Amino acid sequence: MSFNTIYGELDCPHCKSRILSGVGFRFGQLNQRQYKKGDELAWEGDQCRPPSRPDARVIKTLGHFNCDNIKCSSWQDCFPDIQTVLITIENNRITDVEIYKPSGDEEEFAILEPAELRGA
Ligand SMILES: [Zn+2]
Repeated sequence: MSFNTIYGELDCPHCKSRILSGVGFRFGQLNQRQYKKGDELAWEGDQCRPPSRPDARVIKTLGHFNCDNIKCSSWQDCFPDIQTVLITIENNRITDVEIYKPSGDEEEFAILEPAELRGA
């Protein structure tokens, strides 16, 4: 599955380590692009999610990471427990990445806002 990655400015909720591994997310052109906070998303080619750049000014989508610290309590039996983050995109730029507690019924890379993009 193709996805993008955003790096930096996130602390593991378990051990408080600064995350280095990057957060995977599926929005914009899906082409293993690497972003940091403040970057503008690319919309090129036919592998985009949603298929074209949406008009909505503010978008919220879920991403995932695992903690790099193998002593972290999120690591169990040598496998990391995957953590969820909420990524905020405003005017096509990534403006915020924060720890998110899933309620349990979200899809893995769900687009939460705007409502018309849910299920995209
Ligand atoms: Zn950790």
